Amino acid sequence: MFADRAKIYIRSGKGGDGHVSFRRELYVPNGGPDGGDGGKGGDVIFEVDEGLNTLGDYRHKRKFKAQDGEPGGKRRCHGGNGDDIVLKVPEGTVIMEAESRKVIADMSGDNRRQVVLRGGRGGKGNMHYATATMQVPKYAQPGQPAQELEVFLELKVIADVGLVGFPNVGKSTFLSRVTNARPKIANYHFTTINPNLGVVDYQGIDGFVIADIPGLIEGASEGVGLGHEFLRHIERTRVMIHMVDGASVEGRDPIDDIYKINKELEAYNPEIAARPQVIAANKMDAVYDESESIIEKLKAEFEPKGIPVFAISAVSGKGLKELLYRVKDMLDHIEVEPITFEQEFFPEDVLVTENLPYTVEQDPEDPHIFIVEGPKIEKMLGYTNLDSEKGFAFFQKFLKEGGILDELEAAGIEEGDTVRMYGFDFDYYK
Ligand code: GDP
Ligand code: MG
Repeated sequence: MFADRAKIYIRSGKGGDGHVSFRRELYVPNGGPDGGDGGKGGDVIFEVDEGLNTLGDYRHKRKFKAQDGEPGGKRRCHGGNGDDIVLKVPEGTVIMEAESRKVIADMSGDNRRQVVLRGGRGGKGNMHYATATMQVPKYAQPGQPAQELEVFLELKVIADVGLVGFPNVGKSTFLSRVTNARPKIANYHFTTINPNLGVVDYQGIDGFVIADIPGLIEGASEGVGLGHEFLRHIERTRVMIHMVDGASVEGRDPIDDIYKINKELEAYNPEIAARPQVIAANKMDAVYDESESIIEKLKAEFEPKGIPVFAISAVSGKGLKELLYRVKDMLDHIEVEPITFEQEFFPEDVLVTENLPYTVEQDPEDPHIFIVEGPKIEKMLGYTNLDSEKGFAFFQKFLKEGGILDELEAAGIEEGDTVRMYGFDFDYYK
């Protein structure tokens, strides 16, 4: 079962509606408006949880909703804010828009917590709408709708070292020997379905993370078999350990295996193939005839290419210390530039292109006022803070790109006229 990818539906909370009510006091027949504001809807937040290693939690439950804001009440009563929902993910999880696979957030490095969907703003109660000419406002602003999105989560394991090799060469055995990981070991292909991570702690060498990338097979880069599923885990590693069966227990040709795997890496991502590598020829305890030792052949083939070869036995412990020393040394000399994925998809921007209806009308009583209304406008206003410069700029972009300015001009708006949208008045200038 794969637990390192998941598609889930998330929804923020709707803003609570503003309330319409009027003061009722003894001896005061027509009190002023006192409808309170609605509460804000909850946000959808993703948070790194150090204790998690997989996305297994998202296999069974796939819908996550933050709480809606409560509506406002009479006597200026403010509705309660909806609770946020916090979704815990392992470090290295990349959150993408499900359809386009554009990155929304990369939960790694310093990014431990990110709000992915904001809750709708609460609507203003009618207490805000009393003016000299309108003493009995029957309008209150509705709470803003929730935002919803289907997201694709993918765990791109963060490890310093990637361990690659054909099945059964001893990767799991090695990992369990030199790190704190306790993977399953079996003489069976593809036993390890989830990538295993371990922190190295072996005879005084410690502090770096090795990921066992299981199931690499030929054709993996074209998506054949399981291999492709795992290649993405090594995208962030800095050094690669190639493990081969130095005793050819299963009759494999280690040199050929290394070329095959490098070809797969190259096809998948040339950058990965260009990273420093070491070769670990495992199962040396099972080599009885030294004259046929594959080690010399491996050395002759790869050391001139700058790839060192180590003869090891994950079972007896032979050569492990030397191998780890060398890997640690390589890591120490590689520039540490964390590989992160930039945000390419901004959930808020969807609003601009959304095809919600709206209307543009000239006020029948005053030809210099144009009233713009409809769900598209309401939704937009709810997500935008017009008091901030950024928010206002976004709002202007919305008016232009949403076609609203064109509509106003078509309706005959002139310089200096007023545009009215849900309690906000703007002067129109080209
Ligand atoms: P993986 O598929 O690469 O993870 O390989 P495993 O670690 O599961 O090991 C596959 C088989 O090889 C198991 O039966 C192990 O006991 C065996 N094995 C692993 N390392 C060694 C070793 O150093 N010497 C010998 N003789 N057998 C080993
Ligand atoms: Mg294994």
